[in-house]
Amino acid sequence: MLTGIPVSKGISIGEAHILDRSKLCVLKQTIDSSNINKEIIRFRIAIEQTKKQMQETKKKASEVADKYSIILDTYTLLLDDDILVKDTISKIRKEKINAEWAITETLNKSLLLFDNINDDYLKGKKDDLELVVHGVIKNLLGHSQNALADIQKPVILITHTLSPTDTISIPRQYVLGLATEVGGKTSHVGIFTSALGIPSVVGIKSLTTKINTGDQIIIDGINGHVITNPTKKTLEHYKVKQLEHKKYERRLLINIERPAITTDDFRIKLMANIESTHEIKTLKNFGAEGIGLYRTEFLYLSSQSFPSESDLYENFKKAAQEIAPHPIVIRTLDIGMDKQPAFLKSNEEDNPALGLRGIRMSLANQELFSIQLRAILRASFYGDVKIMYPMISDVQEVIQANSLLEKVKDEMRQKQIPFSDDIEIGAVIETPSAVICSDQILKEVDFISIGTNDLIQYILAVDRMNEQVAHLYQPYNPAILKALKHVFDNARIARKKVSICGELGGDPLATLFLLGLSNLDSLSMDPHSIPHVKKIICQSDMKDAREFSKQLLNLNTTTEINCFLNDEMRKRYPLDFQQDPI
Ligand code: PEP
Ligand code: MG
Repeated sequence: MLTGIPVSKGISIGEAHILDRSKLCVLKQTIDSSNINKEIIRFRIAIEQTKKQMQETKKKASEVADKYSIILDTYTLLLDDDILVKDTISKIRKEKINAEWAITETLNKSLLLFDNINDDYLKGKKDDLELVVHGVIKNLLGHSQNALADIQKPVILITHTLSPTDTISIPRQYVLGLATEVGGKTSHVGIFTSALGIPSVVGIKSLTTKINTGDQIIIDGINGHVITNPTKKTLEHYKVKQLEHKKYERRLLINIERPAITTDDFRIKLMANIESTHEIKTLKNFGAEGIGLYRTEFLYLSSQSFPSESDLYENFKKAAQEIAPHPIVIRTLDIGMDKQPAFLKSNEEDNPALGLRGIRMSLANQELFSIQLRAILRASFYGDVKIMYPMISDVQEVIQANSLLEKVKDEMRQKQIPFSDDIEIGAVIETPSAVICSDQILKEVDFISIGTNDLIQYILAVDRMNEQVAHLYQPYNPAILKALKHVFDNARIARKKVSICGELGGDPLATLFLLGLSNLDSLSMDPHSIPHVKKIICQSDMKDAREFSKQLLNLNTTTEINCFLNDEMRKRYPLDFQQDPI
């Protein structure tokens, strides 16, 4: 059995089809001086062709998965990259070599740099760069970009990686499942296959050398396993699992229209985290009751410069109108650390996670911040819009941000620009100091939302993107549970709404514990998780939840908590937690 990262749930069983997309044969050729300019033009044409293909792919992609089309924008930006294009051209000129060889050398030099970087986000960029350059080389070599056309029967695709063009041309009727050698939890392949409902596992080293075309394969996209030539017993076992999973998914969809209410009538709003307004039209398919977190930084990341106030306003207004009558919580800019726009590359910091990110960046660039606040306020006239400040580590930051907001409001009143005067303000609680001083922060805001992704990183001092310490990134560490309890208690005393917008909020394993903290108002999560979490809530009662949380908070170690959670949740909700089958 091979193990990787599960990126699209479900079980598939079928015959392997190896698609080795890693090897491209590039030969070095010397170019005559008189042909150098022609070679450069050939190179530029290949770049333009690749960009065009990316745009066409993007068009097709947006019909299936909008998150995926945003990623394709990033790829197009890589093709505008000075180093990639200029270095290659200067190589062609200086070394008098063919474009394929020159860009391969530029790529190899850049990949070496990536090898010395210990950052998961940037390592992901390494894969992106490789994919984009391979696209250019294929155009230079005159290779067809569509490698999947020859698949004519249902198979399980086994490959090193899939380029965006390959991914978009996956023939849905023939691809039962997918496993790749490279890729991570948030890789483009996973986003796309989960939108198509193709069970997938990524990141299995040397996968293509361990499987042959024609082998019988099981893809377990729930637990991240790939099983080759299973025994009869294993095969039977997975066939049952496959049926159970399909049945379970159908049952989840029955709940879509219904609110999340416990058996003793306690109602929790289930909202969605989004990164792009394109996602809004799909939210009702998951039963989202609003947007609890709009990560606005993606508007900046996919752009070459700061977006204008009117660009932001149009975007926020459209979002508010589309989600109405439900609310939308717009988080102000949280760039820095893992999300650094190309036009801010010069801001390199030794310790970006502890640097100028979130509200710190906004308060240090007040003009930029005011533009965003003005755009949100203008949009608030068109729906139930709320503002939320990220990375608060000191109540003073909330006070400062609020005072800037008041200033912006005053200017708008003078200019008679309409906005909602009673717009609610929230703070993300995601630093240890914000937890400790949540009582003070609560005095300055209308609601809080706990950003557990960062909170876990900062409380446990574990980089959330560093695979070397990934085993220490434990959501169910006692310190995290105690921190949550502290914040919930303070919110209850302050009579303010408390929500969770980090991944923990969308983990059904955590649902009963969170309910048991008593005053949970809403959870905001990846929309795909809503039906599962809702199903847990609808089967729970608050008395049991409170007792459960108390018991969990009394446990000493992460291992004890994990064991207790797994055992107890499986006992209470046997159909909702699938046991690892092997
Ligand atoms: C969080 O930190 O939990 C959060 C929701 O924000 P992000 O993942 O964007 O940092
Ligand atoms: Mg965060």
